Amino acid sequence: MKKWNPLSVWCFMLSGLPKDENNKLQNISFVNASTGVGAMELSKPLVAGLKLLETTGVVMYHASLNTEVIFISPVLLVKADNVRQSEIVNHTGATSMKFCQRCTVSRDDPCTIGTARTKNNTVDFMKEIESASTGSLKKQLRTKYGVCESANPLMELQSFDNGRTLAYERLHNIELGIIKIFTHLTFQVIPASDKAEMERKLKVFDWSAFKRTLSPNFIEKHQSFVGRDYKLWAQVATFVLAGNVSAKYLELWHLISEVFILVHRPYVQVDEIEALKGLINSLITKIKDIFPTALRKPKVHMLLHLADDIITMDRVTAVIQKGAPSPAAMSAYSLLDGSKGLIG
Ligand SMILES: [Zn+2]
Repeated sequence: MKKWNPLSVWCFMLSGLPKDENNKLQNISFVNASTGVGAMELSKPLVAGLKLLETTGVVMYHASLNTEVIFISPVLLVKADNVRQSEIVNHTGATSMKFCQRCTVSRDDPCTIGTARTKNNTVDFMKEIESASTGSLKKQLRTKYGVCESANPLMELQSFDNGRTLAYERLHNIELGIIKIFTHLTFQVIPASDKAEMERKLKVFDWSAFKRTLSPNFIEKHQSFVGRDYKLWAQVATFVLAGNVSAKYLELWHLISEVFILVHRPYVQVDEIEALKGLINSLITKIKDIFPTALRKPKVHMLLHLADDIITMDRVTAVIQKGAPSPAAMSAYSLLDGSKGLIG
């Protein structure tokens, strides 16, 4: 019921926990929540404590050492959905001409990565907007930079720095992002007779290896389905589409499936990140060829940031996990959203 009763919630999670621990609800501490007050307003009382934690630290009792210790901890990662990520870095949102919350690229040039958004350049943009003499000038500057000047307590933290602190949001960028977008576009070019055959394929599909099944209605009513359904679809799409779409669409879905598998791996090795970059380049080339207008969607552009985001998350999780880069933080976010159950 998020659509009708939106709830802003802050939770704390410790970094560096083993992967099988950081997904457990007992290791996620609830801090505050509100249906009426936004996330930034709710962050105000937290920031004073976080400042203390990242500088002088606080005295705590260490149970296994049976002594008091000084506990110092910077903010390493903020997990949030795309809308909240824009909010916490003062980005004007996905509908802006500067549609990316990670870089300053324009919607007209979506296949490149622009200058990275950092706390320093965001604060400079905010100051310039604040000092503008007229309302229309402020509006022009907001459009130019894709930045709004509203107060942001998180910017006061030394350890907070836009892209380096944000976790890639898998549910809305992958399942409800590229998979949903290209399902819709692909289904639009499939004749009704082929769709009927695809429905029959889904009806007789052997789901015994999966925890859930995908209703054959998906072919007709896919836009009403949710993230966990698109997660299932991503795993069977190439089988269902084979024979009902031409080779170029099938190649597109093979690439999407490969990206999907890599981002759902519990561990991603360094050479697999290079493979992921290569896959994403091939996917972008294929999209340019088949569905070029889709490149103007922020969720498609976010593919270009995926590999770097996995490396960023590596800072938080991998040191403890035998040096293997891991998108464990992504898994944790998905768990909070109830998006579980993957075969692959
Ligand atoms: Zn970008």
